[in-house]
Amino acid sequence: MQAAVYKSKQNLVVEEIPTPEPASDEVQIKISHSAICGTDVHVYLYDIAPPNTVLGHEFTGIISKIGTDVTNFKVGDRVIGMGGNPPPGHEAPLRRQEQYNYRLEGITNSRTRGYAEYTVLKEWEPLKLPDNVSNLEGALAEPCAIVTRAVRLSNQKLGDTVAILGAGPIGLLCLQTAKAAGATKVIVSEPSQARRDIALALGADAVVDPTTQDPVKSIIELTDNNGPHVVYECAAAKPTLHDALNMVRKKGNVMLVALAWEEIPLLPVDWAGKEIHLNTTFGSEPHDFKVAVDLIASKKVILDPLLSETDTIKLEDIKEAFDSLIKPSNQIQMVIKF
Ligand SMILES: [Zn+2]
Repeated sequence: MQAAVYKSKQNLVVEEIPTPEPASDEVQIKISHSAICGTDVHVYLYDIAPPNTVLGHEFTGIISKIGTDVTNFKVGDRVIGMGGNPPPGHEAPLRRQEQYNYRLEGITNSRTRGYAEYTVLKEWEPLKLPDNVSNLEGALAEPCAIVTRAVRLSNQKLGDTVAILGAGPIGLLCLQTAKAAGATKVIVSEPSQARRDIALALGADAVVDPTTQDPVKSIIELTDNNGPHVVYECAAAKPTLHDALNMVRKKGNVMLVALAWEEIPLLPVDWAGKEIHLNTTFGSEPHDFKVAVDLIASKKVILDPLLSETDTIKLEDIKEAFDSLIKPSNQIQMVIKF
């Protein structure tokens, strides 16, 4: 089968590798759609996966073979690659280790994944898709689970005002999940006009262009001069965490969703007097996936604007896509269609 194999820093090669066969407790999945995740772009940029890894975890596929002991799936079931309940001892490393460091330890699961024609997973790993969620939409269930978890851990309350810094795929999904969780006013700060327009179409109450407006001043003004109750940092640009801490209201919450890979300037004396909460979130758990799939199925999260036809690519063009995504871009989401 064809797979995009990670060889070394910024080196991804599409080549023929053996098609994986399922063991007795595994299912083989024929990948249908696989979304390119910012995390994989970080892996590519900062070299945090072992050579010969096949990346890709945001995918929809069809069960093509089942192991002899498999009872929960049959051939033909449509599934996403994550969201099943792990048996004890199979949780992701961050759930097991007290001091898991993503930058130093990186990706630890190097099984054949979504940037390939087929993958095999343990029976407990995939989640069945409801009929009214398309294969293309299913490919975005994982980033939707990420923001579901971020909102659930954010302390956001019904009626809160919210700021979202950055309107890439995660920011646009976070906007919708924050609204679904009861935010009354959501303001999005984003330098790209195209992304700001999509944010407005998806229900943002106001947008701010941080290249022409001071985002801290503008967003405080838009929230009756109090600042938002919750700020979701979805950009990891140099000033965004600093801005988030400076704009949030007294006793408010900053949720760090995006991961900065360089040191960023902070001046704590500016905001320490507000007694604010700085929260972090990392990845997602099975329950977050189930909530995310429900949000997509019930159209509380709309994916169409993130999934315009122009962003669908072929596996052979994956390196070009990664190279374009390591630069700032207007691209919303890229999905490989098999
Ligand atoms: Zn991802």
